[in-house]
Amino acid sequence: MFKNLNELKNYCRENDIKVIDFKVIDLAGKWHHLTIPTTRFTKKTLEDGIGFDGSSYGFLTVEKSDMVFIPDLSSAFVDPFNEVPALTMIGNIYSIGDKIERFEGDPRYVAEKTEKYMTETGIADKTLYGPEFEFYILDHISYKTTPNHMEVYLDSEQADWNMGNKGTKNLGFKVGHHNGYHVDIPNDVSYNLRNKMVLTLEELGVPVKYHHTEVGGPGQLEIELSFSGLLEMADRTMLTKYVLKNEAIRNGKTVTFMPKPIFGEAGNGMHVHFQLFKDSKPIFYDENGYSGLSDTALYAIGGILKHSPALMAFTNPSTNSYKRLVPGYEAPVSICFATANRSSVIRIPGYAKKPDAKRFEFRPSDATCNPYIAYSALMMAMLDGIMNKIDPTEEGYGPYDINIFNLPEEEKAKIKGLPKSLEEAADELEKDYEFLLKGGVFTEGIIRDQLKRIRCDASKVNIMPNPIEFEMYFDL
Ligand code: GLN
Ligand code: MG
Ligand code: MG
Ligand code: MG
Repeated sequence: MFKNLNELKNYCRENDIKVIDFKVIDLAGKWHHLTIPTTRFTKKTLEDGIGFDGSSYGFLTVEKSDMVFIPDLSSAFVDPFNEVPALTMIGNIYSIGDKIERFEGDPRYVAEKTEKYMTETGIADKTLYGPEFEFYILDHISYKTTPNHMEVYLDSEQADWNMGNKGTKNLGFKVGHHNGYHVDIPNDVSYNLRNKMVLTLEELGVPVKYHHTEVGGPGQLEIELSFSGLLEMADRTMLTKYVLKNEAIRNGKTVTFMPKPIFGEAGNGMHVHFQLFKDSKPIFYDENGYSGLSDTALYAIGGILKHSPALMAFTNPSTNSYKRLVPGYEAPVSICFATANRSSVIRIPGYAKKPDAKRFEFRPSDATCNPYIAYSALMMAMLDGIMNKIDPTEEGYGPYDINIFNLPEEEKAKIKGLPKSLEEAADELEKDYEFLLKGGVFTEGIIRDQLKRIRCDASKVNIMPNPIEFEMYFDL
């Protein structure tokens, strides 16, 4: 929004902006914030930054935890959720040594380095990313965890009431389970709220492709964004989650992107579509190729599929992620590619036929990822595939344009499955991360911090009694 401090100061004066709020991302992909009165924003803020404890953000060890962030003026927006007029901007993270330097593990810096590396390889000079956000809108969720007792539930009566049928109960307008896709009003009870969410996003410069109700009924929704560059899309991903959560709260509701919040209902994915361009030409298109894809696109797919088990440690970094990736819910389970198959890791949308629209989607990812790091890791896998001409067909990844479940057993056995747990994904990343270090994009430190974080999450869940265990074992 602003090029320099003067522009910012003038804007604040003219618009009576009282406070400046800074958003800084942690390793897990959550924004933290810190606020100052507008008058305290000076040249010094931009030179020296504002100090914080990096260890509480999952970065570095406690011994070396002093860090600063320096606001990125171009990311500023007027925050619609503050009562006093506030300007919000993202902070870039710097480490403190002899001098202040950009912190190699800052997720935003990783995304910047990825785009730079992409150009340096000479393969492409522009990329477009298109994420799809699936989420549930709920009235409330009740959960309680203590060492000896755990309660996480939305019982079916409660769920039915919470997840959309309120107000229409007993009037016959009920959304059946697994039956929520594109339902119209009055069944679509969050329609007005979703319009508010989308208009707020548009006002903040985040163009939306469309929004609709999703299969998980009632209560599952989806918003897809118009495509944009990698770093820009990671910023927009943060902003989208921020707007949806805050707009929901403002309207007395709550939103969750948790991959599998409700047992037996569809999970929340965050599929991502990709395109690459060189000299303004789309390089994923070839009218004679499989499904209209060029060799470059196929190699990019090969790279993603080959590295997909390791990628999961960044694209699906929660224990809950793996409860979504099971058969029967249009979530991917098989490491393969196909034109319309929704159980495959890569799907090529059949309706995107024109050169400019030619693309494929990665289906495993969910919104518990840190978008900067996940989007970067995916690009690194694509570039690795293109540079090493990894042919997905030769590698046995398909295409499988048939129902995989109907294949003979020996054929089925050849298709590898995705990691089944966060621990498995961590093991895979530990074995396969060289491709991420190319061009200095990722560092060993980022890999180590992420492994530490997800292994810690996995072990927490492993030692926690689960409600279903009471059903299975209490009475034994
Ligand atoms: N909810 C499904 C998933 O978990 C996707 C459903 C769809 O978009 N067709 O990925
Ligand atoms: Mg969609
Ligand atoms: Mg969907
Ligand atoms: Mg999709």
